[in-house]
Order: sequence, then C-alpha cells, then structure tokens
Amino acid sequence: MNTIKELTEGLEGRILTDPYQLLHYSSDASRAVPEGLPLAVLAARSTEEVAAGVRWAARNNVHVSVRGAGTGLAGGAVAYPQGLVISLAEMDKILSIDPGNRLAEVQAGVITADIDAAAAEHGLMYAPDPASYRQSTIGGNIATNAGGLRCVKYGVTTDSVAGLEVVLADGEIIRTGSKTRKNVVGYDLTSLFVGSEGTLGIVTSAIVRLKPRPAGTAVTFRATFPTVAAAGRAVTSMMNSPVVPDVMELMDRASVEIVEKFHPTGLSTDGAAILVGQFISLTSEQDAEFAARLCEEAGATNVEQAEGDVLLEARRVSGKALDARGLRASCDVAVPIARLGDMFEALERISAEENVAIPTFAHAGDGNLHPSVVITDESAEAYAEAERILDLITDQALRLGGTISGEHGVGSLKFGSLTKQLDPASHAAHLRIKKAFDPQGILTPGRGV
Ligand SMILES: Cc1cc2nc3c(=O)[nH]c(=O)nc-3n(C[C@H](O)[C@H](O)[C@H](O)COP(=O)(O)OP(=O)(O)OC[C@H]3O[C@@H](n4cnc5c(N)ncnc54)[C@H](O)[C@@H]3O)c2cc1C
Repeated sequence: MNTIKELTEGLEGRILTDPYQLLHYSSDASRAVPEGLPLAVLAARSTEEVAAGVRWAARNNVHVSVRGAGTGLAGGAVAYPQGLVISLAEMDKILSIDPGNRLAEVQAGVITADIDAAAAEHGLMYAPDPASYRQSTIGGNIATNAGGLRCVKYGVTTDSVAGLEVVLADGEIIRTGSKTRKNVVGYDLTSLFVGSEGTLGIVTSAIVRLKPRPAGTAVTFRATFPTVAAAGRAVTSMMNSPVVPDVMELMDRASVEIVEKFHPTGLSTDGAAILVGQFISLTSEQDAEFAARLCEEAGATNVEQAEGDVLLEARRVSGKALDARGLRASCDVAVPIARLGDMFEALERISAEENVAIPTFAHAGDGNLHPSVVITDESAEAYAEAERILDLITDQALRLGGTISGEHGVGSLKFGSLTKQLDPASHAAHLRIKKAFDPQGILTPGRGV
C-alpha cells in the first residue's frame, strides 16, 4: 500500500502534505537548515493520533521529528528528508487546574504563558518563564528543560514537572510520576524524559507544579561595574546570600551599547557590565537595598533602584536589539556561578584575539550565558568562521567546569560537541538508554545524544 495512504487511514484531516505546509513545519528558530522536505506532517489532536503516527513510522522505518512551536534554538525540531513531523501544537488544552494541590494537567501543545495566566486566576503561577514563553509550548519546554528569567529563584522546568504522559517509539503510551509531593516508586522516568529533546518519546501531556504567586511590590535594581570580574563577584555574593532575587541578568558593554542604540533606557555605556535584578516580596525594598550594598562592595560604580520592572526593560529587548543590529550566530553555555566573571573575561579575550564583536548577556544567577558572534556578511564562509569562534567559546566554558548547553539543548547544532563534555563511558550509557527506548532509532535520530 502507498505509505502516505496508509498513514492517512484513521488520521483523516490530520496529515499535511502540501509543500508550503511541509516547508513551514520543517525548521525551528535556529540556524539549522533542513536537508530536505519531510514526507508529511501529522498535526495531532490526541495522544492516540500521536501513537498511530509513531506506529506507522516504526512499521515503515521513517525518521520522526517532534515539534511544539518551533522556537527551539538547537535545531532539534528540524524535519528529516522523507521523514514524519509530529506536531503537538494543536494539543493545546489545559485539562485541569487543581489549586488545592497546586497542580495543573496540560496537553503538550499549550503555550507556556497560558498555563501561567490560568494559574494566576487562582493566585498561583507556573514559574519557568523562558523569554519565548508567549510562543513556546510546555512540551517543547519539557523536552529542552527550558530555563527562564524567574528560574534563578524557582528552578528550571524539571523542578516544576510532576508527571508525564509519553508515547514511546513503538506507539505504547506510558504515564510517569505522580500527583503527590513525594514518590519514590520505580525509576525517575519523569526526569529522564525532561530534557531528552524528543529522542526517547513524545510528551503528549504533563502534570506541572504551580507555586503561590509572590505577594508584595516589585523592586528592580540596576548596577554598573567597571570590570566584568567585579560584576561576577557581585553575582556570586548575591547567590550565596540569604536574599536571592527573582530575576538577575547580566549584560556586557557590547550588548549594552547595542541595546541602548535600539531602545534607549538611559543605560550607562561607561562600565564593562550591567547587572539588573528584581525582587518581588513583602520585603522587596529592603532586599533590593541589600543587593545594592553587595554590588557596591563588589565594586559597582552606580546602583539605581525603581519600583516595577522598568529597569528590566533593556534586558527584555536585548534579543530583538541584537537581531536588529544585523547578522549573528548565538550560543548557550553555562559555567559554575563563581566562574561567571572568568567566562566574561575569556569572552573579552576571544573577541580581541579574533577581532570580532561578541555581545553577551547572561541569566547571571544560573551562570548561563548567551554570547553572539557578530557576522559581517551572509556568505557560508562568514557563518563557518562564526561557528569556529562559537567552538572556542564552548571549549572555554568546558575548561571552566561548565557545559555546552545550559538551556537550549544539544539538538543538531551542538551534536558534534557532545563528546567534548560526555566521557566515552557516560556517552555509551546514554546510547544504551536511547537503544532501550528506541531500538529502531526512529525518534529524532542523530540529535541530542
Ligand atoms: C526569542 C526566543 C527566546 C528564547 N528564550 C529562551 C529562554 O529564555 N530559555 C530557554 O530555555 N529557551 C529559550 N528559547 C528557546 C526555545 O524557546 C525553547 O527551547 C523552548 O523550550 C522550545 O519550545 P517549542 O515548543 O518551540 O519547541 P520546539 O522548538 O518545537 O522543539 C524543541 C525541542 O523539543 C522537542 N519537542 C518539542 N515538543 C515535544 C514533545 N511534546 N515531546 C517530545 N519532544 C518535543 C523537539 O523535538 C526539539 O528537540 C528562546 C527562543 C526564542 C526564539
């Protein structure tokens, strides 16, 4: 039987084969380029439809890529030539909110900000807030273990996931975790699937943990530092203090200059780095004053304070400002918090040695940096050169005891660097896990692990 006809049976209306639609579903927000169009897209509306698609792919040995909103920055959701894209975007229902137990049950395609908004009606919040949280799906956040601005205080996605429904590579449907606060039965499969980038199974729904919405006023602080090392010291002392901000972001001089040109908010371009943070609590004013003192002790030359999140504005627009400035190739690395200053200094050195601007901003309290190599033209050579410099940056993060990805994942873009971080024995252990869950190798092959 014709394979597409076989796929369509039982999935009428859910299979897309129009070339324009195929193209739309072929890429994500990264610079990874699809090598060809997929055979079809399954725009699933139920777990059973996902399972049917996976069973068809297994029977026909077709590679499957899994897609939420396609905002991923690692090339993980990019389609395979002649492959099947399984899109979860239409599985977008919030199934229940349980305020008493502070839990929500959601389908994988729900936009993350919508969960937070639904929780807010009960005085609760869904804490992990990637900057893309108005576009990205909870399934994509779970698959990449996404971080966000609030994660310095409330933890990353994995800390908010209590259980999952997952379609395995043979179409079997399993449920992991529980609704209880404590549960030590069986292996912690929930944590295994979080961050597995679509390589072990397809998340179709999740039970997520909600937190009380913080009460009190929001107070923001902004500190200018003469050196990145001094800013790094301020971050370390703040993270070791009893007062951890709800948000803490660091921008180096190059990104400050670009952001200030794009959207002037009175940022000082005199310093080497600017640290912005926010407290939302009943004691936020005292907390922000305490933070200001720590910044001054670390060498800040100027510290401002304001109510609301006006001082955070510059950080919020930094991605857009960098895009508007021109071509760039960005990456995502993380280092132990106390090495943040060393990493920024290394970036200054690489920038000078390679004669290229590397504006960088960081989720400072998580030691997670996003350096962007500025590219002067659109040629393949210019991009290859940028990739070479990004490799130098990744190597430097590893030398400081860091990781090649803090939150975007390995996907296809960092697949080549995986074994720089994983030693042969632990890489082999990953491959054994992959083989156990996906013996045919049809789910997101050649990416992630
Ligand atoms: C402007 C912008 C800002 C961003 N800011 C942040 C940030 O602050 N923090 C951060 O961590 N990331 C950030 N990202 C990256 C991206 O938004 C996240 O990685 C997000 O989690 C991806 O969600 P998605 O729904 O778009 O997933 P997709 O891009 O569709 O997929 C991402 C990966 O998850 C897999 N996947 C998706 N859904 C499922 C599922 N249901 N089951 C199994 N696997 C699945 C895909 O196969 C792929 O490997 C940003 C991206 C942009 C464009």
